[in-house]
Amino acid sequence: MAKIIDGKAIAKKLRAVVAKQAAVLKEQAITPGLAVILVGDDPASEIYVRSKERAAAKVGVDAKTFKYPNDATEEEILTQINALNQDETVDAILVQSPVPSQINEQTIQEAILPAKDVDGFHPENSGRLFAGQTGNYPVANTPRGVMTMLHHEAIDLDGKHAVVLGRSILVGRPMFALLQKANVSVTLLHRYTPADLRRQLLATADIVVVATGVPDLIMGADLKPGATVIDVGMNRLPNNKLVGDVNFDTAQKVAGAITPVPGGVGPMTIATLLETTVELAAHHHHIELEHGWQNI
Ligand code: NAD
Repeated sequence: MAKIIDGKAIAKKLRAVVAKQAAVLKEQAITPGLAVILVGDDPASEIYVRSKERAAAKVGVDAKTFKYPNDATEEEILTQINALNQDETVDAILVQSPVPSQINEQTIQEAILPAKDVDGFHPENSGRLFAGQTGNYPVANTPRGVMTMLHHEAIDLDGKHAVVLGRSILVGRPMFALLQKANVSVTLLHRYTPADLRRQLLATADIVVVATGVPDLIMGADLKPGATVIDVGMNRLPNNKLVGDVNFDTAQKVAGAITPVPGGVGPMTIATLLETTVELAAHHHHIELEHGWQNI
């Protein structure tokens, strides 16, 4: 039976480290500021934004939400972003996705100042990641949180083969970049990868990261025995149950380690968002912080 990777417990440890970092800033009268722009009334987004606010308050991050109606124009959102770009009490800005169709996500991503781009979506930041640059720039929080989990669990990465399923800018692509930066040979699959090829590649994968939004896409029989399985998927079934993209019961019998849904990647994403916010605040004030995840 696979070891269950307890994302909730790791996220708790990470939040404690982030709270300590925020306390160091507080001594210098700095409160990290996170601005969240929420457009429309998607109930899932509202729940998600509220849990971000609550988690932020607990670690000493000042989170503010700017709510806009479903019919908000792109210009209104750009005006708000510009104001936040100039506001010195704001260190990190994010626009909760999805946004209504009249708003172009690319335009929004490029409007956020790269130094405040807490999601790491601005081409300047994602470009740095793909160029393999080191240094202070934000990286998408879900894949960054996955890397923290892998390090925390002491999963051997060097020279291993990973299969990443999904190529979104939110998860799959930055996951690919981070893993290959850690000396992993990475294969990136997506919806046009034929099932046969997917099966062949999975059979040789030491690490599998699944972020597709397709329940039960991966079954235990697809996995190499002992593989580490990270399930990013979050799918609400008609019976209201929350499941990932991996069939947990069968996968658990074959994998070496596996993340559950819920309680796996989800809690890590929010904790990592706070970690990035505090780092951005420190960077804006030219303060060196000890790195977060190495201390958990
Ligand atoms: P997305 O819809 O933007 O992208 C889905 C990707 O999956 C696409 O690249 C697509 O090509 C690929 N895909 C679809 N069918 C596939 C198949 N049969 N085989 C291989 N690839 C396939 O989604 P996203 O924003 O990357 O999110 C993916 C999932 O992760 C969703 O369930 C989402 O809710 C979840 N998610 C969870 C967290 C978290 O914190 N746990 C964060 C972000 C996203």
